[in-house]
Amino acid sequence: MSCGNHHETPCDEVLARVYTYLDGELEEGGCGEVRDHLDECGPCLREYGLEEAVKKLVNKSCGCEPVPDDLRAKVLGRIEQVCGEIRSGDAKTTERA
Ligand SMILES: [Zn+2]
Repeated sequence: MSCGNHHETPCDEVLARVYTYLDGELEEGGCGEVRDHLDECGPCLREYGLEEAVKKLVNKSCGCEPVPDDLRAKVLGRIEQVCGEIRSGDAKTTERA
């Protein structure tokens, strides 16, 4: 479940950041940081079907537009799921390597 690309920040950490950000726990300045991570990990997010939704949410969060609760909840749930998949995939890879 790894994207095969080398990131400075592992995919699951990127997602954890995005999650925290969308969950409203990051400072306002965290927006640029999250965007950087999204650029770095874009291909993986696309693979997980998250890129479009997350970018949309981040853009809204960065502007003054309120993010619809149901959309946010959907993306947060999906991130949780993908993080779990990445972690179990990484664990297997490490064990066999
Ligand atoms: Zn990645």
